[in-house]
Amino acid sequence: MRIGSLFGIRIDVNASWIFVFALVAWMLANPRGPLQLEGVGTAERVALGIAGSLLFFASVLIHELAHSLLARARGIPVRGITLFIFGGVSQFEGEAQDAPGEAWISGIGPLTSLLLGVVFYGLALASGTHNHAGLMFEYLSAANIILAVFNILPAYPLDGGRVLHAVVWRITGSRRRATLVTVTAGRAIAALMIAFGIVETLTFDAFGGLWITFIGWFLLQAGSAEQSSVFIAGALKGHVAGELAAPPQQRLPADATAVRALSLMQADHVRALPVFLGDEFSGVVTYDDLARLSEDERARTYVTAVMTRPDGVLTAAAGAPANDVLAQLARSSAAGIALTAQNGAVQSLLTRESVMHWLAGMKAVAGRDD
Ligand SMILES: [Zn+2]
Repeated sequence: MRIGSLFGIRIDVNASWIFVFALVAWMLANPRGPLQLEGVGTAERVALGIAGSLLFFASVLIHELAHSLLARARGIPVRGITLFIFGGVSQFEGEAQDAPGEAWISGIGPLTSLLLGVVFYGLALASGTHNHAGLMFEYLSAANIILAVFNILPAYPLDGGRVLHAVVWRITGSRRRATLVTVTAGRAIAALMIAFGIVETLTFDAFGGLWITFIGWFLLQAGSAEQSSVFIAGALKGHVAGELAAPPQQRLPADATAVRALSLMQADHVRALPVFLGDEFSGVVTYDDLARLSEDERARTYVTAVMTRPDGVLTAAAGAPANDVLAQLARSSAAGIALTAQNGAVQSLLTRESVMHWLAGMKAVAGRDD
């Protein structure tokens, strides 16, 4: 859900943030909550709760903006910021090219939160601690300092995990080794958090304990995803998109029927096929295009009637780096990317299945070498 943009950076809010926003507002407006609002009228309590929640929301946003603005200043294009249940993520179109760059871009977030903690503490002192605004600033100061401390934990994909990655990268000179070390450290911390969360749930604080368990579990998942994406990026490095394309037998002539297309897809376990009229590319037909037809219709419908025409198909040069084209595919919802030869004519289709197939072949080759 897009809420706007700041400094030209697109800001999205995940639906889970509405829950966080309401929870923080409800907690602050509670008469026995941190603002000590006993005896205060409902309207004022609700107003203070919403104001506090908005300032908390702004704090998380400023943390993410710090990452994004520094990344952009260092030449990494920024796609946008998304706020979700655990805070926020800044999405970049590339990665830091050196270790100090990665350390700064990641480290600036917790530093910003720490600075916000100090600023809110100053505001609390200035307004005096015995009024509601003062207590709210005190609460926001604590929240920002907790945010800074949590994010500096050396666990991927938290900021601290990325700083650790940069440090190991700098020391060993190997980005891959740095990822392995960071992912392992992240797993250990995630496991500790889960264990601590379970003990906490059973003994002192069920809600707080479950929350810590949940965050630990999330870190565990994110670490595994990071590891496999690094494996894929490493395997594709130095290869071009054309190598990952589906083989030439996985194409349909323009006079193929939907039945024939479906049986070829099922035999080859693919979800999209390019259609050619002679040597000329005429479109892409997907499993979803065919699934919409009834069995009767499939027998008398040509693929050309349901396929996506060339002007609606994403294309890339067959000689382009494989990682770039895969990133383009990941960003889109398309079933495949048509690869063009030097003369601009489409020659093949790259799909998620063709990439998986290629990777499986790489693994088999690597296995034989061992
Ligand atoms: Zn951060």
